[in-house]
Formats: sequence, C-alpha cells, structure tokens
Amino acid sequence: MSKVSVGKEVLSYCNKCKLTLAHIIVTMKTNSSIGKVECKTCNATHAYKDPSAVKATKSKTSGLSKKTRKSSSDSISDMWLEMISKATSQSQKYSPKSVFKVGDIIDHTKFGPGFVDKCIDQDKIQVIFRHDIKTLIHNR
Ligand SMILES: [Zn+2]
Repeated sequence: MSKVSVGKEVLSYCNKCKLTLAHIIVTMKTNSSIGKVECKTCNATHAYKDPSAVKATKSKTSGLSKKTRKSSSDSISDMWLEMISKATSQSQKYSPKSVFKVGDIIDHTKFGPGFVDKCIDQDKIQVIFRHDIKTLIHNR
C-alpha cells in the first residue's frame, strides 16, 4: 500500500470525464483519506471519488437482466399448468363442430389437453396447449 498525500497521483472517478482517471491529490481530509483531487485530463478540481465504489454500483444494475431470461416455451407450459390446475370444467373432446367458450378444457387427440384462452372469431378459438398456443376451428 503506497501512502497517499498531497501531490501524489491517485485513480479517482471524474464526474466531468465520466471515467476513472489519474488525478493529483490537492487536499487531504485526514492522513489516509483524500479530500480534493485534480483531474489530469480535464484539470477540474473536485472531491475524490473512490473508483471501486463507482464500479460496485454499476455491477448491481447489470445483474438485473438475468431475471428476464426465460424461454417462451417455458412460459407457455407454466401458463398451461396454472390454467389446467385452476380449471373447474370437465374436459371435452375436441371437434370442429362443437362450440367452445373461454375457460373450457379441450381434449385434443393430437395436442392433448388444452385451455380455451380466447374467442378470436365466431368460428375460431385460441387454445393453450402444453407446448404451444394454437388457433382451432369450432362452431362449424
Ligand atoms: Zn476529468
């Protein structure tokens, strides 16, 4: 550890340059804590700002992006599971001739159990299956 004192060079965050740069110590608060520094790049004199403290706050914000990482197939299956477990109606065999309404559980021969999420049209419904969201025909 080199001792800090007036006239010595130190790394400080510069508010003007928005960078961690070499500064010259102008004043000391105590024997070990730096008061004011002069930026060697822009020559501005300002309070010493510990560059390691600036870095610490930066890494905190970049960690937030991890939360949003979720594949779409995961969320469909999550949604499906939640809806199937909440459903109170009996599942009905899917047929394009039948009429379905939002909230119905469909038993599809190919896709398995599905949940009617939306009525898109008079003859079209949006159904959430375990791995996919499909538009099916009904009311024919
Ligand atoms: Zn500067």
